[in-house]
Amino acid sequence: MKTDIEIAAAAELKPINEITEMLALTDEDWEPYGHYKAKLSDGLLEKLSERPDGKIILTTSINPTPAGEGKSTVTVGLGQALNKIGKRAVIALREPSLGPTMGIKGGAAGGGYSQVVPMEDINLHFTGDIHAITTANNALSAFIDNHIHQGNELQIDPRRIVWKRVMDINDRALREVIVGLGGPVKGVPREDGFNITVASEIMAVLCLANDLNDLKKRLSRIVIGYTYSKEPVTVEQLGFEGALTLLLKDAIKPNLVQTLENTPAIIHGGPFANIAHGCNSLMATKIAAKLGEFVVTESGFGADLGAEKFLNIKTRAGGFEPDAVVIVATIRALKMHGGLDKQNLQKEDFSALEKGVANLKKHMETISQFNLPFIIALNKFPADTQKEIDFLLGWCADQGAEISLVDVFSLGGDGGIDLAEKVAAMSSVRKNDLSYTYKLTDTIEEKINKIATKIYGAKGVEYSNKARKQLSEMTALGYDRFPVCMAKTQYSLSDDPTLLGRPENFTIQVRELHPSIGAGFIVVLTGEVMTMPGLPKKPAALNMDVLDNGTIKGLF
Ligand code: ADP
Repeated sequence: MKTDIEIAAAAELKPINEITEMLALTDEDWEPYGHYKAKLSDGLLEKLSERPDGKIILTTSINPTPAGEGKSTVTVGLGQALNKIGKRAVIALREPSLGPTMGIKGGAAGGGYSQVVPMEDINLHFTGDIHAITTANNALSAFIDNHIHQGNELQIDPRRIVWKRVMDINDRALREVIVGLGGPVKGVPREDGFNITVASEIMAVLCLANDLNDLKKRLSRIVIGYTYSKEPVTVEQLGFEGALTLLLKDAIKPNLVQTLENTPAIIHGGPFANIAHGCNSLMATKIAAKLGEFVVTESGFGADLGAEKFLNIKTRAGGFEPDAVVIVATIRALKMHGGLDKQNLQKEDFSALEKGVANLKKHMETISQFNLPFIIALNKFPADTQKEIDFLLGWCADQGAEISLVDVFSLGGDGGIDLAEKVAAMSSVRKNDLSYTYKLTDTIEEKINKIATKIYGAKGVEYSNKARKQLSEMTALGYDRFPVCMAKTQYSLSDDPTLLGRPENFTIQVRELHPSIGAGFIVVLTGEVMTMPGLPKKPAALNMDVLDNGTIKGLF
């Protein structure tokens, strides 16, 4: 089979105006960014407000493994398949970050015959949104350092600045730095550090903003650090919310592209699902719901991280509920959860599969707790044997769970017709009675405890002394009214990435809390979560090239 980039390069894309025509958009609703990309205007949602919403279908997965689950691939494939069965579907996805693209992933725009295109643009600089977010973030850092240099009217304690610089490349050498060296004219020396852009609070703010006005309000609330008397200092006090909004005025507009089968796709925003909430922008999802009978949208990592945050954070911010959930699983990944090594995944192994399904079972229980109907999408890989597939189909039948075998990777929308029909039937009966994991009036500790026990299956939570102190400080500041955003490893239900399957009898170790007041949540750091990843020994970038004739290599 051809590589993803070869398939994408051979695709017959429609000029973007044909996609906007399909969606019945008028000229003032969008602006072209080249031949195959458009930005949707920020007034569009308001204009469409009287229209009924389409059904919102959320895709999530089991805990990811290095074997790869194919959540984006299934999301794109399902959108294409819904269109094939005559339902108008629009896909909403996140923008890939260059960090993982150059590091391990080599791209994140679906795969095989279920991709969003132009994939090389989407995987590289796209319409510049992530660069704009990087610039806004670093402009704020410069404003803070300048404020201190110019006399520090707000009495910001340089040792208590929590706002970090960012860049969208995995660069471990920048995790901790000292800025302001070189004497009095070069500023005030202080410890700083870099996060990856997709871990920036500004990314989360952009993704949770309902419109430009809400964006400005959220930016103004960001807490950048504390004064010598330990009072929080906000962007509003510094006076830069206007400038930051200006830097983001185009980035806030959702991007419209298409899939290989010309299904409209809105790709906008890309917060990490561990340190942030891990879903495409609220505006993208809401506009997609106004434009399509169905929206297929994705949340990052497994249901313990991405779906939990989609359901407890994003739906609350946006005032909507999904109608059905698709849980993506693969035989390969389930075998890894059952203890099989990555090198042996090609071999048929029922005992590993039998053990590994425990991971899937936990995520099925989680989605049921939210009171949402779900279906398992078994993403077929070439090495899966018929007996292994039959085993999983039988297991799901025993559990009374719906399952669909999908091959959208090899067949495009045709490989997901059964899934599309089942999803359409399932979502037609939805009653809108989402049951959240916690109440907003719960204390921060209660919220964390409910997520740890109900979603992860932990027996309890332990706090470091620092986290305990922060719990009382944040409660005193009134931050306990916000939802919590758990920063946990994606590989395990626990906070130990090596515990695969369905671990039991574990406790979650809370190290530290961080208020993301602009985004509107408290980040709870557990275990060792990276906010600036490093590159592997052989980064995916080693395989990348662009030939003299313009052919791109190494994005997959
Ligand atoms: P996720 O969203 O879960 O990270 P992706 O959809 O990005 O996963 O897929 C991860 C990788 O696996 C991609 O390179 C994709 O092309 C590949 N892939 C996905 N599904 C299949 C499949 N059914 N068969 C072969 N390769 C696949």
